[in-house]
Amino acid sequence: MNIILLGPPGAGKGTQARRLVEERNLAQLSTGDMLRAARTSGTELGKMVAGVMDRGELVTDEIVIGLIREQLTNDDGANGYIFDGFPRTLAQADALGNLLAELGEKLDRVILMEVDDEALVARITARSTCANCGEVYNDQTKPIPSDGVCSNCGEKAEFTRRADDNEESLKTRLLAYYKQTSPLVGYYYAKGDLSTVDGLQSMDDVAASIKVALP
Ligand code: ADP
Ligand code: ZN
Repeated sequence: MNIILLGPPGAGKGTQARRLVEERNLAQLSTGDMLRAARTSGTELGKMVAGVMDRGELVTDEIVIGLIREQLTNDDGANGYIFDGFPRTLAQADALGNLLAELGEKLDRVILMEVDDEALVARITARSTCANCGEVYNDQTKPIPSDGVCSNCGEKAEFTRRADDNEESLKTRLLAYYKQTSPLVGYYYAKGDLSTVDGLQSMDDVAASIKVALP
């Protein structure tokens, strides 16, 4: 099964993707995570994309399509993939369709996670992540444990905030979403692939809504 999680920054795509990985044994492909990993390991690619990412703009289609192509062609994919943060432009959506067709695969569902802007800003500016396992925390709803031990991986970890999780970059990210990514809603709706879930529900309720939408 191949699924796309679509929605603005802060909609909860990463959180839900991680749950689906465990429940359905799917592989998560997050272009955001791949690009951040490239930066951390200091590769040429990482250096190239750093400024663009920190400003909240989109990396070129060529780069992200290349990353996805590499993953899809090197990996046998077991039960399929969850695409999280990809595709983000119509060109990326077309490229993904072609790649899946080349591999004899298809897209099973696109889940649109709807959250209003006000909630997004509140969520993102309160967000931090376990540097060890990637578990997401939130100052209001899921604070970092006071003993510094991550509830997911059990390690005494560092909890880091993303460089682009500030109000200025967030404005740019939201604008990029509405201008470049939201046309995908119509694109997948027209293909009959789209299901919409209310991303303002609790994490468990969002997960339950996604479950209903999946084949
Ligand atoms: P968000 O919380 O904004 O959904 P991501 O972790 O998915 O964040 O992505 C972080 C940044 O990485 C984006 O703002 C963008 O610069 C870059 N990026 C990630 N995925 C893509 C993509 N599919 N196309 C272009 N740029 C991307
Ligand atoms: Zn952890």
